[in-house]
Amino acid sequence: MQHIIDRFISYVTIDTESDASSNTTPSTKKQLVLANLLVEELKKIGLEEVTIDENGYVMATLASNIEQECPTIGFIAHYDTTPDFTGANVKPQIIQNYDGGDIVLNKELNIILSPNYFKDLLQYKGQTLITTDGTTLLGADDKAGITEIVSAMEYLIQHPEIKHGKIRVGFTPDEEIGRGAHKFDVEKFGCDWAYTMDGSQIGELEYENFNAAGAKIIFKGKSVHPGYAKGKMINSMLLASKFISKLPKKEIPEKTKGYEGFFHVVGISGSIEETTVELIIRDHSAKKFRKRKEFIHKLAHRFNKKWENQFGAEIVIAEVKDQYYNMKEKVEPVFHIVEIAEKAMKELGIKPLIKPIRGGTDGCQLSYKGLPCPNIFAGGHNFHGKYEYVPVESMMKATEVIVKIVEITAAKK
Ligand SMILES: [Zn+2]
Repeated sequence: MQHIIDRFISYVTIDTESDASSNTTPSTKKQLVLANLLVEELKKIGLEEVTIDENGYVMATLASNIEQECPTIGFIAHYDTTPDFTGANVKPQIIQNYDGGDIVLNKELNIILSPNYFKDLLQYKGQTLITTDGTTLLGADDKAGITEIVSAMEYLIQHPEIKHGKIRVGFTPDEEIGRGAHKFDVEKFGCDWAYTMDGSQIGELEYENFNAAGAKIIFKGKSVHPGYAKGKMINSMLLASKFISKLPKKEIPEKTKGYEGFFHVVGISGSIEETTVELIIRDHSAKKFRKRKEFIHKLAHRFNKKWENQFGAEIVIAEVKDQYYNMKEKVEPVFHIVEIAEKAMKELGIKPLIKPIRGGTDGCQLSYKGLPCPNIFAGGHNFHGKYEYVPVESMMKATEVIVKIVEITAAKK
């Protein structure tokens, strides 16, 4: 257990925060510190073909130890942490034999991780938890995933009696700013399929995510002196608010769950002359996703029809752009890749929790680039903030899941 804790801590104490405003890859230079350390570590444990490309993507191979043909599979994790919360100077705390009570993360600042609020904690009574000191995030997202992949490869090298085909490992930058898959060289990776180790609680197995689009809607107004405005002024801010009021009121993130999609207004800025509304559209169903996009265009059309005489031109300009798609479409035709992961968990006494992701993963983009890629738990909770924690037992289980997947894949005819 100490070995996996030490490995995890050696990763999270390196600041790898990504930055959406940067145009370089990786978005921040400091990510390369960990990337290069991983290269050295992968070589040291005995992996082959260890490479890092000019964009910081790390890849490595564990060669097959069997004669017969076997699919090549991969395991992927991201080494950046979110810019939403600081990842500098992470000081992990280790709570042994967790008693099910409050955990004081920071006495001075009175920051407490409590099962009264974070009920998931209670399922880890008696286990070893790694938490923050209340001033940073932890970075279990996704350094737990990296820890598990490296540990599983090390285990396989030390246990040649476990038969496996060719295994590939991939570590990516910039996942948290949505670019982890952008420059991932799927061809070079050369796998039949892969798994991202980037889910949360033990048992999670995900192969469905949202279809996603972003809309930018511009409202044109007409500014006239308010004293002489009757019948002349068009206040674009009021138009925008009217438009928003026509969106389905119950289809918003705070009122939906599971497979329910939504419209989500993420920004408004305006003046009388011009107002811009930004919103995102999410839906698991491809058909409903299309309908949602059409709805925005139809609504814009209706506004334009109504105002065309007075304004003499389009008053609403709606631009809708697709962002990513549901990987289900790419995974279902090769569904055995989900079944293998499910079987691996069951054989290890882990109850698979299969549920749709209300978001996207690197795996969904990779699936559309030709590498079907479901997502497996990495074990952490409360990502992207100071309450983030990970049970060491979950990381050990995830490591075992990787080994088991490899075994089952090799044994499958
Ligand atoms: Zn992640």
